[in-house]
Amino acid sequence: MAIIITDECINCGACEPECPNTAIYEGADDWRYKDGTSLEGKLVLTNGKEVDADEAQEPLSDEIYYIVPDKCTECVGFHEEPQCAAVCPVDCCVPDEDHVESEETLLGKQKFMHPDG
Ligand code: SF4
Ligand code: SF4
Repeated sequence: MAIIITDECINCGACEPECPNTAIYEGADDWRYKDGTSLEGKLVLTNGKEVDADEAQEPLSDEIYYIVPDKCTECVGFHEEPQCAAVCPVDCCVPDEDHVESEETLLGKQKFMHPDG
């Protein structure tokens, strides 16, 4: 499952540089699949979704930092625990019940985004 940032976020920015998948963005910023990954051009994600990795996508929040579910692996493949949750001073990075994924699926996402490790 992905991690989600709740509206308790105080916009401190501590989580953003910690994400190994560049899945965290500041509110109102555009995001891209290619940011911090090996993805480029048109491709099909492991969940079957067709995307353009180079294309700027609409922010998921205009007010607070947000996490892109397609890019979050709960840090599987990199770390023992979600790094955003570990550094967040107000504990507002929590499991997203709407994006539940198995460890195997999360690892598959990680390998897809970072085939060279
Ligand atoms: S759990 Fe890990 S991969 Fe997901 S947003 Fe947080 S730091 Fe990034
Ligand atoms: S570390 Fe927590 S409070 Fe700070 S920007 Fe990230 S989610 Fe918001």
